[in-house]
Amino acid sequence: MRKALSRFASGVTIVTTAESSHKDSVHGMTANAFTSVSLDPPLVLVSIANRARMNTKISETKRYGVSILASDQEPLSLHFAGAASQPDLVKFVWRQGVPLLEGALVHLSCTVTNSHLAGDHTLHIGQVEELWYDDGRPLVFYTGSFRALELQRTEGDLGF
Ligand code: FAD
Repeated sequence: MRKALSRFASGVTIVTTAESSHKDSVHGMTANAFTSVSLDPPLVLVSIANRARMNTKISETKRYGVSILASDQEPLSLHFAGAASQPDLVKFVWRQGVPLLEGALVHLSCTVTNSHLAGDHTLHIGQVEELWYDDGRPLVFYTGSFRALELQRTEGDLGF
């Protein structure tokens, strides 16, 4: 399962949450199980392992932020996966009382509308309350490795 699905290339996000904008209560984790769900209303979802500390925290705060990482933010991704500690790189900005990672390509501040238990993960559907984005190269995760995109259009590109 892991090997097959790792052939679906994804971006990399840091999901964050905090209790009522309290700076000391911020918690973050790396996640690539993120998807857009609906445009009207604007909904996204993140799939969080039931055993992750983040799962309990989102269930309590009912808010989360999604920062879509740029290609130079791999160290942050490792940090928030508990793989290689880099606390000096961690800088938060706040939108709608939700912490987000400085230097990311996209910031989404979300309020949880529904949470669905799905096997060993929970799907947290969030309504986007505020978004911000910048141009740049995304960090990519593919076959278990971090990659950077060559931003080259294919011949049949439909230009969405
Ligand atoms: P912890 O493991 O306790 O915390 C994670 C790390 O973040 C720790 O090192 C902690 O020090 C640091 N941290 C937390 N808050 C702060 C803060 N305020 N300031 C500074 N540092 C902080 N898991 C999923 O459930 N779903 C996914 O979609 C998913 N995708 C992944 C994609 C990739 C590319 C990788 C590498 C991992 C992915 N994981 C995913 C695994 C997940 O990131 C780890 O299991 C993570 O450790 C779970 O975090 P936790 O909430 O249990 O907290």
